[in-house]
Amino acid sequence: MAHELPALPYDYSALEPVIDTQTMKLHHDMHHGAYVKNLNAALEKHPGLQSKKVEELLRDLNAVPEDIRTTVRNNGGGHMNHSMYWKIMKPQGGGEPSGQIAQVITKTFGSFKDFQAKFNDTGAKVFGSGWVWLAGKPDGSFQLMSTPNQDNPISQGLFPIMGNDVWEHAYYLKYNNRRPEYLAAWWNVVNWDEINHRLASFQAHHEPALAHR
Ligand code: MN
Repeated sequence: MAHELPALPYDYSALEPVIDTQTMKLHHDMHHGAYVKNLNAALEKHPGLQSKKVEELLRDLNAVPEDIRTTVRNNGGGHMNHSMYWKIMKPQGGGEPSGQIAQVITKTFGSFKDFQAKFNDTGAKVFGSGWVWLAGKPDGSFQLMSTPNQDNPISQGLFPIMGNDVWEHAYYLKYNNRRPEYLAAWWNVVNWDEINHRLASFQAHHEPALAHR
């Protein structure tokens, strides 16, 4: 079964004014659409892999045949990353984090404000195209990180709790070269409920190191 472009969970205009309608249309339909199309085209050469979830492919890239490995890494990554990205945003989102993620942030980074500052700084420092992440580690602790291109932390054995897209296609129409402005505004559309779901699924599989403190 072929991979499919998931529908946006809200209208193209729903994240205005933080993310403009035209950027959402191009980003979802064209960019994410192309990742899905390219991923499916690559997997046609190895039909045995077509039934695997994209997470499975990316978790063990060495198991992907060499002739399609880079294509799967880039386009499978693009598919997985953007599938998360649309869901961890919502209209009238933002505000202070709630639930378990609020505790993780406070315990790991001291305060939400410090976490935001470090997350934004990590995103601003990505050279070229990439992502900034809060990732869960195998020992149950957490770290901020960036990845180049469409690489996902899952390929390094880490769990992507939340991430922001700092490719120019994500912000250039509205923010031009002012990536830090986009990073700062993005917090107003963050969907903490969805991030808490992702955190819960990470913690279901890892012993939270913080619980031992
Ligand atoms: Mn993107």
